Amino acid sequence: MDKILFLGTAGGRASTFRLLRRSGGFLLNLSGRWIHVDPGPGAFVYLHQMDFDPRDLDLVVLSHVHLDHSADVNSILESATDGGKRYHTALLAPRSVFEGEDRILLPYLRKRLAYEAFFEEGKIIKYMDVKVKAVMKHRHHNAETYALLFNDRILYVTCALFEERMLEVYPKNVDIMIINTTLYSKRTYIEHLCVDDAIKLINGLKPKRAVLTHFGYEFLKHYDPQEVAKQVSIITQVETIAAFDGMEVYLH
Ligand SMILES: [Zn+2]
Ligand SMILES: [Zn+2]
Repeated sequence: MDKILFLGTAGGRASTFRLLRRSGGFLLNLSGRWIHVDPGPGAFVYLHQMDFDPRDLDLVVLSHVHLDHSADVNSILESATDGGKRYHTALLAPRSVFEGEDRILLPYLRKRLAYEAFFEEGKIIKYMDVKVKAVMKHRHHNAETYALLFNDRILYVTCALFEERMLEVYPKNVDIMIINTTLYSKRTYIEHLCVDDAIKLINGLKPKRAVLTHFGYEFLKHYDPQEVAKQVSIITQVETIAAFDGMEVYLH
């Protein structure tokens, strides 16, 4: 059965680097393949701690280059390819991960990839039995950032400034919508989603279930994500859960 495993649920600098919660992104098991999405700081160690062999990863996916999403990408790729001995891992990411001044992929690791592809808005990438669509380019502090749809079932709304266009471009009625809800309330000049934005997305797109994650410092200090998710469920009438480190969600 397809599933999601949240390695970490911290978002933004303060919450991630003061280790209020773990970071490390999440794993997807889709069509029997393991995918690591946004391997932030600690991801490599967390995988080993739960006895997950990184050589089982066929795909690594990055939504953007920010450190809380990408810090461990090189260690993850080195271990997934067994130091270059196993040639099966794909990296799907914005071009800015691979090239340019702010690239984060170590150049020698590029040769170890069995496949690489760059996201562009609307582009569909297939590798093994996994289909990833970059549904929309986000506005997010000048980083090239994409919302991603996996196998037409899981919509990952990564960090972004809320835009009405999301309600037109994102698919409706997906099985699960993962929303990086870093802020409790909106803050000017900060290009992250808040709880009201999550409510607008859930109300407008009616996923079967929603997961809030990637909680920022202020959110975790002053609010209980579980309680917030309960309120969001009542308001939207869509089952909404707050992710915690190590949480697993099964897709029926
Ligand atoms: Zn970011
Ligand atoms: Zn982020």
